[in-house]
Amino acid sequence: MIVIMQPHATEGQIDHVVERIESLNLAVHLSKGEFRTIIGAIGQKQPEHQSILEALDGVDQVVPIMKPYKLASREFHAADSRVDVNGVPVGGGGVVLIGGPCAIESHEFLHAIGTAVRSAGAAILRGGAFKPRTSPYSFQGLGAEGLKMLREVGDELNMPVVTEVTAVADVALIERYTDMIQVGARNMQNFNLLQEVGKTRKPVLLKRGFAATVREYLMSAEYILSQGNTSLVLCERGIKTFETELRFTFDVSAVPLIKHHTHLPVVVDPSHACGRREYVTALALAGVAAGADGVMVEVHHEPEAAMCDGPQALYPTMFAELVQQVGRVAQAVGKTLTGPKDL
Ligand code: PEP
Ligand code: MN
Repeated sequence: MIVIMQPHATEGQIDHVVERIESLNLAVHLSKGEFRTIIGAIGQKQPEHQSILEALDGVDQVVPIMKPYKLASREFHAADSRVDVNGVPVGGGGVVLIGGPCAIESHEFLHAIGTAVRSAGAAILRGGAFKPRTSPYSFQGLGAEGLKMLREVGDELNMPVVTEVTAVADVALIERYTDMIQVGARNMQNFNLLQEVGKTRKPVLLKRGFAATVREYLMSAEYILSQGNTSLVLCERGIKTFETELRFTFDVSAVPLIKHHTHLPVVVDPSHACGRREYVTALALAGVAAGADGVMVEVHHEPEAAMCDGPQALYPTMFAELVQQVGRVAQAVGKTLTGPKDL
């Protein structure tokens, strides 16, 4: 950290700051300029140190040098991470497709959709059993029954599965049935939930909150990593802006930004970002062109019958076309599609 003193800070104030830094077991590096004194505080910094020093008289600013998200940062781990989702690698050079319905509705529907996305090229199957709905009167998902269906269909099609957890109390149950645990946008700052999934050793897909800055997002990632779970994949899924024509605004710039600052794989979710099937493919391509390691897309063979998010669900034929186009963009940026596991 660097402590920048106010222009007219007194010797007494400077001495006091030096003593306080030393009392925090940090080394002091003093630099007295003509107008200002700058004091370097070197050593193992705690999050509280910044506000302790900011509160001292005569201090103008305290500037941290290291990133507050240590384990997520490239300073800690320079190379790109690769996460193994039950045999399917995410990150480290490939582009993976995750496809499936918004919600698990029946074994029959899930099997039909899973078969379609697999034959189009998706390697991971998605489907929600616990749905975080804006209205308490909307369909909330099939719960434990849905998890069983997801596991069965995943096994039948040899596809790892990902599903969302919405409550600490459900982590153990979901851990048992899934290959990857999703934490949704609405729970990005549910710190208890982040710690609980961090205690498991299942891969986690952490979505960005739609009102969260990238820095806040990476601090949430740090919560999971700090519990020892290093199998973490991030997902940009759109943020709230003043634009109202689409459900959210797809923040494509978040992809290179996150990849610059962290080693974690990043996938994009164009479905929730725009909310309309006609725009999903374009956003998917933009995400991959910007460096995403994968794309998660909602697909339904009968969107008009979908219990949730029908307007953004791609028909299987549209999804197959999306995969072809994503493959071409992946190739253009020096990557290859990661296909499904053998049956
Ligand atoms: C989902 O992927 O099913 C979902 C609810 O997404 P989000 O948390 O991004 O809204
Ligand atoms: Mn959805």
